[in-house]
Amino acid sequence: MTVNQPARMGNAFLTKSVRAADGRLEWYNWLGEEKGRPLEILRPTDRNELCNIVRDADTDGVPVRAFGAGHSFNALPTTDGYAIDTSELNALLEVDIPNARVRVEGGIRLGELVLLLDMLDLALPTVGGILEQSLAGAIATGTHGSGLGLGSMSSYVIGLDIVDATGQLRHLSARGNDPVAFDAARVGLGAIGIVYAVTLQLERAFNLRTTASVTTLERTLGDQRYRKEALSHRHYQFLWSPYGATVVTLPHDYAGERNAVSPVQSLQRDRSRRP
Ligand SMILES: Cc1cc2nc3c(=O)[nH]c(=O)nc-3n(C[C@H](O)[C@H](O)[C@H](O)COP(=O)(O)OP(=O)(O)OC[C@H]3O[C@@H](n4cnc5c(N)ncnc54)[C@H](O)[C@@H]3O)c2cc1C
Repeated sequence: MTVNQPARMGNAFLTKSVRAADGRLEWYNWLGEEKGRPLEILRPTDRNELCNIVRDADTDGVPVRAFGAGHSFNALPTTDGYAIDTSELNALLEVDIPNARVRVEGGIRLGELVLLLDMLDLALPTVGGILEQSLAGAIATGTHGSGLGLGSMSSYVIGLDIVDATGQLRHLSARGNDPVAFDAARVGLGAIGIVYAVTLQLERAFNLRTTASVTTLERTLGDQRYRKEALSHRHYQFLWSPYGATVVTLPHDYAGERNAVSPVQSLQRDRSRRP
């Protein structure tokens, strides 16, 4: 059997599945270095299909595991049971503009979600360094960005609709009757039910101001300057290439609610102006 490099679409490395010589499926994560041997890969398109898959797996005594974009750095999303591809569970279910909340299916990719939220003048408070992940996958592993005053992505989850091991849908929330289960399921590493939908507490769309500066590694690390910088900005990054002395520092600060023209709209406008 020949395993090719993972397919590439736009900027996103994708998971890949192939049938091995022994007839068994093999599933590879985005980089192709983690492998699972699932019995089947099932792609539900709605809540009922998802519940039925889990119910049937329970009846058959087969373990189930969901995967999103397969961007974990380890074998977390792999299984030798039924692998559930959540990529078609990507609908926006409910919008509450006054309270800046949405309920959305967990398989949605963060890149799709931020575009939808942008149209509603809403924003995720923080994300990690990329937007390829599924929402449920990112939350399940405690994905976080920079910002000492900000929590991980799981911290702005206020409700979860999960499918339990018997295929029943259960709603969990901080104010519900099982807040401990809610906390466990928030960063559940894929082991506490399959997340069907997530309710998010968002922010009004906002601008960030970034001032990039070039400095040295010595100045950045000396006297723990990076720590002081991190404490005084909403987000703080510095980029250093090993074997070089140069560092680029990138503090990002809140610059008020977004103007009438969104960054996405202005990007589209800039693009359309190009010859
Ligand atoms: C290039 C790159 C950059 C990254 N940058 C950051 C970063 O800046 N900050 C950071 O914290 N992390 C970062 N990560 C890690 C990444 O955010 C996490 O590994 C995240 O879990 C990937 O999401 P996914 O959709 O690919 O999940 P998968 O890898 O598909 O799955 C991860 C886990 O979530 C579970 N899961 C997925 N969907 C569901 C569901 N619907 N219900 C229940 N469980 C589910 C899986 O079973 C598995 O246990 C980065 C990863 C890469 C490859």
